[in-house]
Amino acid sequence: MRTSYDVTIIGAGLAGLQCARLLAQNGLNVLLVDRKNTLDQKIHTTGIFVRRTLVDFDIPNDCLGELIKHVSLYSPALRPLELVSRHDEFRIGRMGQLYQRYLQQCLHAGVHWLPQTSYLSHSEANGNLKLRLSSGSLTRSITTRYLIGADGARSRVARDLKLEQNSEWIVGVESVLHGAVLDGPPRLLCFLDPKLAPGYIAWIAYDGEETHLGVGGYPSLFDPIPALQNFRSRVAGIIDLRNAKQIESRAGFIPVGGVLKNIANATGLLIGDAAGAVSPLTAGGLDPCMRLSAFAARVVTDYLSTGDAQTLRSYSGELFRSRFASRLWARRIAATVRQPQLLELGCAMLRLPVFSRLANHVFFGRGSFPDVPADIDSRKPAPLPDWTC
Ligand SMILES: Cc1cc2nc3c(=O)[nH]c(=O)nc-3n(C[C@H](O)[C@H](O)[C@H](O)COP(=O)(O)OP(=O)(O)OC[C@H]3O[C@@H](n4cnc5c(N)ncnc54)[C@H](O)[C@@H]3O)c2cc1C
Repeated sequence: MRTSYDVTIIGAGLAGLQCARLLAQNGLNVLLVDRKNTLDQKIHTTGIFVRRTLVDFDIPNDCLGELIKHVSLYSPALRPLELVSRHDEFRIGRMGQLYQRYLQQCLHAGVHWLPQTSYLSHSEANGNLKLRLSSGSLTRSITTRYLIGADGARSRVARDLKLEQNSEWIVGVESVLHGAVLDGPPRLLCFLDPKLAPGYIAWIAYDGEETHLGVGGYPSLFDPIPALQNFRSRVAGIIDLRNAKQIESRAGFIPVGGVLKNIANATGLLIGDAAGAVSPLTAGGLDPCMRLSAFAARVVTDYLSTGDAQTLRSYSGELFRSRFASRLWARRIAATVRQPQLLELGCAMLRLPVFSRLANHVFFGRGSFPDVPADIDSRKPAPLPDWTC
């Protein structure tokens, strides 16, 4: 194994895999490191991809479940509001399979893959970075010109690079089931209940084959495992789980403070959850993973080929944060509502035509992580692209 790379990426979730492949395709020597042994273990996502991602990125069809266009939004008293989109809006990724597929594409592009290896620390030496990595009892050093933190919500790389770190999270836990029975078409069921899921939702994502049953909320306000059990019994009249078999359980921290401002410097940058690139309202992070990683790959390629640090100025969370202003406000409101009666009233209002448009916008709107125009010149100091969607 070689010991010197252009770029080292810590973390082989969706963000790290996408970025590694693109950098290698740009001709760079890339090392991808993850502490997991195989990528289908300990998955941190339900895997619901939104229409915009499915349209803009090439996600292999056989790694996706059936198309979903129906959403049922339940009030705390379990009164449903049915929303149907004109479009096919969502598909649930078969995430273990998808990560493995993306890893194959990385290897094919020339990425060096180091599984079961943890990033420990780094130091600077002769203009390069020296990384300490540990695989079991073995500690090894490698040198790299640039370091990318794709190591999730509580990023060690962010801390070591002295970049900004996430400070607001919700936690999500879910069971993945086979054999659940739900009448009607594939759909997402979202349950607003400040006791069961304080500050977020409980959910059932059902695509006719896989069912994901989960709860999310602020960790200081609930205990997720009992909440998940409680949720399972609460929905017994809605979904038949008597013959359902749990095939996996998933959990993770979800940063909801909005994309961080300071996410790049001359030694490294952050992508995915490490950069806080998650919608503060819906907690959707898969689309931001794809978009921000593609942008990072362009910026890093430019930076390493020119050595011009100005290149990195366009990779600033400040550019993206303005796009999230309304969602950050909505997050503040979601974080403070504790009374079920208030949410019940809110849900009743969503039945009024003017507010039902809002519900449709939240679930079916095409606003996600901003696109960075292809013609953005990353050498100019921080231009502000015109995002209007
Ligand atoms: C329960 C749950 C459900 C969700 N559902 C959805 C959804 O349906 N749709 C959606 O859009 N978003 C969803 N999200 C958010 C979305 O999944 C995340 O934003 C996204 O998966 C983040 O990807 P990532 O690559 O940045 O991080 P991760 O997928 O967390 O990957 C980080 C990787 O870094 C590795 N790592 C960490 N530290 C080290 C280290 N020191 N050394 C080596 N390796 C390290 C980890 O092993 C891991 O593989 C959900 C999140 C959760 C927790």
